[in-house]
Amino acid sequence: MELIFERSRHGHKMALLPACDVPEVTPDFPLRSEAPKLPEVSEVEMSRHYSALEQQAFGVNDGFYPLGSCTMKYNPAVNETAAGLPGFTELHPLQPESSVQGALEAMYLTQHLLADITGMDDVTLQPAAGAHGEYTGLLLIRAYHEARGDTARTKIIVPDSAHGTNPASAAMAGYSVVPVKSNAAGGVDLDALREAVGPDTAGLMLTNPNTLGIFDPNIREITQIVHDAGGLCYYDGANLNAVVGRARPGDMGFDCVHVNLHKTFSTPHGGGGPGSGPVGCKAFLEEYLPHPIVTKDDAGYHFMKPAHSFGRVRMFYGNFLVAIRALTYILTLGGDGLAEASGMAVLNANYLMTRLKDAIDIAYPGTCMHEFVMTLEKYKEETGVSALDVAKRLLDYGIHPPTMYFPLIVHEALMAEPTETESKETLDAAADVFCKIFEEGRTDPEMLHSAPHDTAIGRPDEVTAARHPKLRYTWAD
Ligand SMILES: *Cc1c(COP(=O)(O)O)cnc(C)c1O
Repeated sequence: MELIFERSRHGHKMALLPACDVPEVTPDFPLRSEAPKLPEVSEVEMSRHYSALEQQAFGVNDGFYPLGSCTMKYNPAVNETAAGLPGFTELHPLQPESSVQGALEAMYLTQHLLADITGMDDVTLQPAAGAHGEYTGLLLIRAYHEARGDTARTKIIVPDSAHGTNPASAAMAGYSVVPVKSNAAGGVDLDALREAVGPDTAGLMLTNPNTLGIFDPNIREITQIVHDAGGLCYYDGANLNAVVGRARPGDMGFDCVHVNLHKTFSTPHGGGGPGSGPVGCKAFLEEYLPHPIVTKDDAGYHFMKPAHSFGRVRMFYGNFLVAIRALTYILTLGGDGLAEASGMAVLNANYLMTRLKDAIDIAYPGTCMHEFVMTLEKYKEETGVSALDVAKRLLDYGIHPPTMYFPLIVHEALMAEPTETESKETLDAAADVFCKIFEEGRTDPEMLHSAPHDTAIGRPDEVTAARHPKLRYTWAD
């Protein structure tokens, strides 16, 4: 496909402004001496260019997209309508409180609904993503220990099934990371945890259900062990799809949590669009929350700075319109609807896993939650076909591959999360494709090594693309 620069033809223009009929003024600040060389295209050429780009992309609206952990699920259009209301989009972040009472009410409601859903007492909407929420939560934990003069706590415990952002955020917050291994069932090994905790434990970061799609039955004991050692418990709720309306991190013993509005609460993501990772905490941590948070009294809604706030983690109030989408999603589904959605997410994952379990090894067989992990380790030994080969071949069948090579403790992993809105027909069709590909690998492995065959781009050199991206176009003339 041609780049917009390659489509450029000298003199092609879009809007034709009328000739200037007022005196031209030279401003008294430095001006560039030459106009920048930008692509010159007509309006229709530009429109076609972006449509062509769109056709090369694959989104939830194009087909099945079972991306484990990072959730690509259908985002109801009504959320967009609400987030597009001029009363929300035309606000200026520095407007006086009295002129934005509706927006503040929406933020207040979102804070409190998220607190209810997670079993926390208060929520900040400021963090812009999941990892940013983790960092914020760790700063809360740090502020708590420091306020008590408890400065010897330098370590954060992270299970080996954790999302990579957990150890990274802990390191960013100045902690060293202590990994704990998983037990045979995929949960936290309690003995290993008991050995890991001590007077240097600042806290634990945990996802439950974890990235293996397993709900840890020992969760209360796990949080107790950490509390007994004087540490706090952080819940990575980036993906809350299995438990919304059914189980709450606060009731499992966690002290703070983040949720990814762009995964569980229905904001489109994946194209670099804005995310949001609100952080909730129990009452004893509220005083340290980043400011501002929205409060309410008889006179209305106000921005408030918690007594010992550690500052801001982002300018203004977070990605406000993402919060509006989440609010719309929560209010349109209601409590029963949210519980039904998580029930469907779990049912769909179990259905797909059951349809595949005779065709490929499931890393931790048994009932899963919202996602499950296949391991192609043995399959690769037998056929030479890797998880990557299968992922690439899925593209030929119009299915976006599951998450690959994650979690790290499963070799040749494919992690599938079908999500709540997929029909039985879609799941059956996808299961048929998976089974067909696993069979192809046994009879014609070469065809899988060279897949995909039907996409515009085959196998880009991902390392070079990541390490040496070409971000500038150099004009030939
Ligand atoms: C996606 C994800 C994160 C990180 O969220 P970002 O918004 O990508 O920073 C953290 N933990 C888990 C379990 C996730 O799935």
